[in-house]
Amino acid sequence: MSLISKILRGTKDILPEKTEEWRRVKDSIYKVFLDGGYQEIITPTIESTALFKRDKDDTSDVIQKEMYSFLDKGNRDISLKPEGTASVVRSVVETGLINNSLPLKLFYFTQCFRYEKPQQGRYREFYQFGAELFGSESFLAELDIIYYIDKFFKKLELENIHLEINSIGCDECRPIYIDILKEYLYKQDKFCETCKNRGETNPLRSFDCKNPLCKELLEKAPLINSHICSVCKGHDHDLKQALDQLNISYTSNPKIVRGLDYYNKTVFEFTSKEIGSQGAICGGGRYDKLVSEIGGKQTPAVGFGIGFERLIMIIEHQNKHSKLSEKVDIYIANIEKSTLETTIKIFKKLDNDGFKVLFDIMGRSLKSQFKYADKISAKKVLIIGKQEMEEGIFLLKNMETSSQQVFNINDFLEGKTII
Ligand SMILES: [Zn+2]
Ligand SMILES: [Zn+2]
Repeated sequence: MSLISKILRGTKDILPEKTEEWRRVKDSIYKVFLDGGYQEIITPTIESTALFKRDKDDTSDVIQKEMYSFLDKGNRDISLKPEGTASVVRSVVETGLINNSLPLKLFYFTQCFRYEKPQQGRYREFYQFGAELFGSESFLAELDIIYYIDKFFKKLELENIHLEINSIGCDECRPIYIDILKEYLYKQDKFCETCKNRGETNPLRSFDCKNPLCKELLEKAPLINSHICSVCKGHDHDLKQALDQLNISYTSNPKIVRGLDYYNKTVFEFTSKEIGSQGAICGGGRYDKLVSEIGGKQTPAVGFGIGFERLIMIIEHQNKHSKLSEKVDIYIANIEKSTLETTIKIFKKLDNDGFKVLFDIMGRSLKSQFKYADKISAKKVLIIGKQEMEEGIFLLKNMETSSQQVFNINDFLEGKTII
């Protein structure tokens, strides 16, 4: 046997042994955000490339190097979405949803794509959960978003997850700081070529450089937190004070700049020590200009995204596995043609009564059916063969205790006896 095609590089199948965990985590985060007044939005997998390549000066790797773009048959420049936010913004502007009453609180769970060299734990197709809150300039918007992420992590009982916050300033104060940083980068000719080029475009991104020498030099670099204006300072201070009041612990980390260019004021990450230096599993921040950049009217916004694969990795690493799916209550074995009609009635009644009930579909020997019942962790096996039929009974074997009960078929179907 030879497969006519194998799975594409950088993609993966998520098999039943995993989907169980995925569903549990997904259900849990859906519940937290629905309870928090967020509504789900689903946007297309493909968008015009122009939606993501808005600015030719955009220096982020995601946009410059990692977009999964192609020309379609109509010669349109299409991209598989590299992240969730731009599509959501496009949608709320295009449909006018953003013109309704604010705040507008949305969340999404979506596939994202990056065309990069696949490596350990990084895929070309991956999943992201995220939320966006439109309409508020107040620090309370950040507080709202962070509160529910924190609540979700606490619900999962994850350990060693930590919130790091920074303010990257506004249009007033950031340019001044960037000039100071540029000067610092120019003075040091030991920086790598990429960082030197960043000096021209977006020097903030140097803080993401993995080069050890750059890292060392940046230890002494001027940091943005000592250069932000009083408005940004006040915003940052109010947010942190409110986080204190909510008992959400955090660290101020002036080196967080985030990988996308559209943020202002607050940026934050939730990190885990367990996945090495690239420890962020959730990143977000304020992006007051993105809506107008995409063509809507200026609307302040805050959002975040969680890399789902990484989250699952941490959960597995910490052995916070969900219990296996609810056990099968009853497995109906040994169905013969002569007993089929009655068996179906019994099945229907059990199903209606709310039992999780499965029946044999393979026609194997009773012995192998018991093996199978064991494999699927059935609590009880219902046996109804020819002989039982003639006696008007069925047997119910408890798989844990091996004890067996006898039931009268008619009494059971008429609801006179309960299992
Ligand atoms: Zn400012
Ligand atoms: Zn560098």
